Amino acid sequence: LTTKFDLSLLIYPRDSGLFFSWRYATDLFEASTITMMAKHFETLLTGIVANPDTKIKELPRPPLLSHFPNPSQILEVPSYKLVTSKIAEWVEKTPKQIAISQNGQNWTYAQLWEKATHLAQILQSQGISTNKVVGISGEKSFGLMVSIIAVWLSGGIILTIDPKLPLERQKLMLREADTQLLLCVTRAMSDDSLVQLKSISQLLVNPDSGMTEDRQITTEKLPQLNPEEAAYIFFTSGTTGIPKGVLGCHQGLAHFIDWQQNRFSIQPDERVAQLTGLSFDVVLRDICLPLSSGATLCLPPSDWDWQGNKVLNWLDTEKITIVHSVPSLVKSWLLDAPEKVSLQHLRWLFLAGEPLSDTLVKDWREHFPQGGKIVNLYGPTETTLAKFYYIVPEQVKPGIQPVGYPLPETQGLVVSKNKALCTIKEPGEIVIRTPFRSLGYINNSSKTVEKFVTNPHTNQDEDLWYHTGDSGCYGSDGAIEILGRIDDQVKIRGIRIEPSEIESILQQHPDVKANIVIAQEKPQGNKFLIAYIVAEEQKVSFGQLR
Ligand code: AMP
Repeated sequence: LTTKFDLSLLIYPRDSGLFFSWRYATDLFEASTITMMAKHFETLLTGIVANPDTKIKELPRPPLLSHFPNPSQILEVPSYKLVTSKIAEWVEKTPKQIAISQNGQNWTYAQLWEKATHLAQILQSQGISTNKVVGISGEKSFGLMVSIIAVWLSGGIILTIDPKLPLERQKLMLREADTQLLLCVTRAMSDDSLVQLKSISQLLVNPDSGMTEDRQITTEKLPQLNPEEAAYIFFTSGTTGIPKGVLGCHQGLAHFIDWQQNRFSIQPDERVAQLTGLSFDVVLRDICLPLSSGATLCLPPSDWDWQGNKVLNWLDTEKITIVHSVPSLVKSWLLDAPEKVSLQHLRWLFLAGEPLSDTLVKDWREHFPQGGKIVNLYGPTETTLAKFYYIVPEQVKPGIQPVGYPLPETQGLVVSKNKALCTIKEPGEIVIRTPFRSLGYINNSSKTVEKFVTNPHTNQDEDLWYHTGDSGCYGSDGAIEILGRIDDQVKIRGIRIEPSEIESILQQHPDVKANIVIAQEKPQGNKFLIAYIVAEEQKVSFGQLR
């Protein structure tokens, strides 16, 4: 039997009443979904017959299933060992184990710790302490990793800056974050890829040795870190033209890393790739997961041009067991996959940041039948790293993969416009509730208040719902499925972009009367941005606008 439409409902009058016949494409719907929809429809019709004058949205809703999250339930806040404490434990336990590896050079846990504590003491003598922001800019290197750990040990907050970002963007981030000191991980200060700012004091860190210029060090003890204190800032696109800085804390980071270690049995023999750029919080997964697990963090050569075949060859020769990436990047690697690469050592490929299609899963498995299991991670920077996961099963579901199930002490609620909880397959906004979220936006308390809203079911100040702006629904198995955005935010190669940020910048140009920015998809699936401009006069210079 075939069906002409995805879904059709035929209604026949019979002596005993109306007879409903549901026809659906079995490629698109599971029988259990249709049965459930039929039941919901019956509830709705019964409600209409009983209360014909009531508005549809006020009619009785289908009951929620017992395994759905209950928004009144208290979420525990157990204490998780902080990343720096976990690293310190491995330094004690296995000081000679390799912590970082790059280009055939290795550093042990003992070496890493010695350099990091030394730099932390220098930072302390420079006035860095709790809540002080230290910018870190430079290439993937031993020095960069030492800098990150040293800032945490000194009590400070890291602001990692990709030196490839436009200079104006780098300056804006440093200013917005009220940066006290900038660690430039480079061989020479003349390196023009690094941001030059007169108002911020800068310290040169050697990428190979992790050493700085000779500076005084304090003899004071390094501080005891408070889990609730801020650990990092990552910027994301803002609708007003100014990027939003998200302030993450130590306990949020610890919560995620602890879960990832346990859920995926991360062992000291693991080799984790550091592929993510400095602008994304995912870089913290790359770095903190191996170092908290007594495993090895593998840095690719710093002078790479990032061709797909280079990445895959490197993953293979380095015997990498764990990779974090975004679907669009992985897709680009596959376009150029070398024949001889098998990725037989890979155990887990963690993907996040964009919808994961069944096609990509199948392509990956076809290229690398031994290339590990794929996990779809989901969660915005605001709720810290990722808060949902879905291990893609052998039998992959058609279409976009679900974002799945929450981490511990986390709830994913799908809510309608009037904040009612949606039922199975009913689209609504995904709201994330967890005490292990970020501390909100820096310099933007009104945006924080707008996006982090008091849970209406408990009305407690600290119990907040983060409104993701993602639309989704519950699957019949309780997994959350993602359906798109409720606003016009887009992702391009994993980078989150509010088109209105670009519009508001373009609008500042005197020759621009009006403009609109949209993302368009090329046939191969690559997205790019287009700005449409209405010029004041004919004379507008496109070079300048660009
Ligand atoms: P970011 O803060 O850059 O991590 O971006 C978060 C946004 O990326 C989410 O709100 C989603 O729109 C999107 N996103 C993240 N992970 C996934 C995923 N696994 N599937 C679909 N969209 C995702």
